[in-house]
Amino acid sequence: MENLYVEESYVENPNVDTPYVQYMYSYPHKTAYRPLKGVSLREYAPLLKGAGHGLYLHIPFCETKCGYCNLFSVTGQGSGALDRYLEAVERQCGQYEKLLTPQNTEFSALTIGGGTPLYLTGEQLERVFGLLEAHFHFSREREFVIETAPEQTTEEKLALLKQAGVTRVSMGIQSFSDKELLTLRRRHSAQRAREALKLLKSFEFSCVNLDFIYGIPGQTRESLLKSLQEAIYYDPDEIFLYPLYIKHGVRLEGEGVKPDRNGALRQYQLASRFLKEKGFRQDSMRRFVRNKGEREFSECGFGTSLALGCGGRSYLGGLHFCSPYGVSQKECLAHIKKYEGCRDYTEITHGILLSSEEIKRRFVIRHLLIRPGLPVKEYRMHFGSDVMEDFPVLKSWTEDGYVRKSRKEPEISCGDRKRSEGPDKNNGETYLTLTEKGLAFSDYLGPQLISPQIRGAMKEWEESHGRIYDAVPGEPEKL
Ligand code: SF4
Repeated sequence: MENLYVEESYVENPNVDTPYVQYMYSYPHKTAYRPLKGVSLREYAPLLKGAGHGLYLHIPFCETKCGYCNLFSVTGQGSGALDRYLEAVERQCGQYEKLLTPQNTEFSALTIGGGTPLYLTGEQLERVFGLLEAHFHFSREREFVIETAPEQTTEEKLALLKQAGVTRVSMGIQSFSDKELLTLRRRHSAQRAREALKLLKSFEFSCVNLDFIYGIPGQTRESLLKSLQEAIYYDPDEIFLYPLYIKHGVRLEGEGVKPDRNGALRQYQLASRFLKEKGFRQDSMRRFVRNKGEREFSECGFGTSLALGCGGRSYLGGLHFCSPYGVSQKECLAHIKKYEGCRDYTEITHGILLSSEEIKRRFVIRHLLIRPGLPVKEYRMHFGSDVMEDFPVLKSWTEDGYVRKSRKEPEISCGDRKRSEGPDKNNGETYLTLTEKGLAFSDYLGPQLISPQIRGAMKEWEESHGRIYDAVPGEPEKL
């Protein structure tokens, strides 16, 4: 068994109530989106000119709802409901194709997420792949990512993925302990996860990612390490390690289950060290990558990504849009029904138009939380100002040991390919990089970068729908 010695250096941090405030996977959060009027995709289509864009399809169906899940997904839907949804997706594809053809749009990344995309039948999956190919152009080297769950991972469906050119499969395992899986209200058993993983590996996709959760009530450091040890046996290319959040409206909240906040940071620290000892590179608080099969993040604040389906989010310059945020089955079903009845998918009715100040914040959040970090010169080049002056909190984070300056040439990570394009654009670039302590406290630091306006909009949403986060972050700095 692993040595369970944990350095106490940052575990005890009297100034921080909890390191687990909010996961900042994007900015702004969907709860800050509002109804939009008079916005048409037509005006924004030129942003999708040429190559280098992402296409996302959301499949909002799952067999059962996991206890902690607040993603846009519904359960209990039969094949007829799925067919109806795909008919709407097909209509949306047709309308988007008309807008994109004059732009010669070529997508370099395709992601199908959910929900559980493999909840679709084999026939429906073939239909999806066929219609995406028929309506859109993709680069020859496109990345094709799909999410799956152990119960839906069958030989027949994996063969279809292989045939369709899927490059990366991400599977939610969460734990190899049946007790912990039960606590999470996951449907699969540890044995089913093992079988699915063995099958998945036999198809030799170029990248296999596995998701795990820590901070589960009753989980110990030993059981977490045991799960990770077992995962490594299957030789995954990436592991994402998520702290358990129980937000408002999820099933576990109703059951009175609370995440193990006290144990979580220690579990994280131990698991992070363990994975690095096993040859993984840590790129963010959650992402651990083997040095082989490296993959860059395709979206660092300026990326363009178009979403299909209900619940998927599009990013086109300062316009971010998607269907209204929903957690409950009732809300999600109502949004799906509206999506299926939509006549004009080019009319954008819900989202946000970012101000230049919010675009700066997005740039900082998207870069700082992912190594190699925030490129200081690049920031100045884009915005004409100094990031430390715009965000004085970065100085105090440097003094507090969360952030350090680094001039190290970046390993492949967030947007490196883009950064390395052009005549030595980043030669001598200085990065503001999260330290080990900073990585561990990413979910505490990130929320402090939310602007007062966005925080206000999120608060307003929470007050009308119920609070969705475990804690309220400190006062934001002024830009
Ligand atoms: S966590 Fe994933 S599999 Fe579970 S209900 Fe949510 S979307 Fe479905």
